[in-house]
Amino acid sequence: GIVSKRPIDIIFHSFGLIDGYDLNTIEQYRNLLIELKLPVDNWFKVIKNSDQLRAAVIELDSDRHTFPYGTDGAVIKVNQIQSHELLGSTSKFPRWACAYKYRPEQGQTVLKAVTIQVGRTGVLTPVAELDPIFISGTTVSRATLHNQDEIDRKDIRIGDTVIIEKSGEIIPAVIKVNLDKRPKNTAQFDLYSHVNGKCPSCESNISREEGFTAWRCNSPACPDQLIAKLKHFGGRKMLDLDGLGISVAEKLVTSKLVKHPLDLFDLEQEQLANMELEPAKLNSGVKSKPRRFGEKKAGKLIESIQKSKDLPLSSWLHALGIPNLGESASKECSRV
Ligand SMILES: [Zn+2]
Repeated sequence: GIVSKRPIDIIFHSFGLIDGYDLNTIEQYRNLLIELKLPVDNWFKVIKNSDQLRAAVIELDSDRHTFPYGTDGAVIKVNQIQSHELLGSTSKFPRWACAYKYRPEQGQTVLKAVTIQVGRTGVLTPVAELDPIFISGTTVSRATLHNQDEIDRKDIRIGDTVIIEKSGEIIPAVIKVNLDKRPKNTAQFDLYSHVNGKCPSCESNISREEGFTAWRCNSPACPDQLIAKLKHFGGRKMLDLDGLGISVAEKLVTSKLVKHPLDLFDLEQEQLANMELEPAKLNSGVKSKPRRFGEKKAGKLIESIQKSKDLPLSSWLHALGIPNLGESASKECSRV
């Protein structure tokens, strides 16, 4: 499977119950791991006061870029294990450990164009198409611009050199414009006129509720909305449909095999297997190859569609994508 093709590694840094060893400090625990030839993190320091703590956090920030894995912060722990029990924990976190997050990495690149994405609820989101830039270990060619208000506030224009930020798994964002590099004859960006007042997916007229910043497509037959709804419907915390990714959802909608999420339950394995998937545009700007979905994946998807019928009510409520009915509200509603 995928796992065997990807280099996966592990480092040990914490423990649950320790049996058979008498350990007083985190330092002793780490030395034990090394003695047992278990992999540990590259960087560790015992510090005695806040000055040393500050110095260590700064030192780690420059050292961490040489590690063979990505990092975004430092973990600071009380060394004496006996004190851990004494300090206890809040409802979520222990009081004897905390994380310090470093500033996300930034980069400068040119905003070449703005494209508009239509989401599950019909909201139109402007997306920055960037000159690809390598940042935080990945190539970034797109960043979210959130909405018209954000664009106005930062006065972001096509052709601008922009400063973007990316940290860990978070979607890259445009922080601000480098005005010194603004070319002549740029125009303020207006989402409504950019799409001529029409949804880029279905060409229905777009509208905006008073007091709201988001422009919306209100057509119930909008293909991009349906694609996003399908993806949500099959999400891991919803019906957990194996293999219903963005390109499969796209093909199901464009080939008109699915006009409503519930149509998934009428699909046959052969129909699915014969689907030719469009090349996907990856975040790095690279396009993948077109490919047939195939019997094996089709079988798995059909199987998980059948299995989803036995999932609890809360998963189904969540899958429907009713506004403001998220994971915990769905659980609470199905409980009462
Ligand atoms: Zn639409």
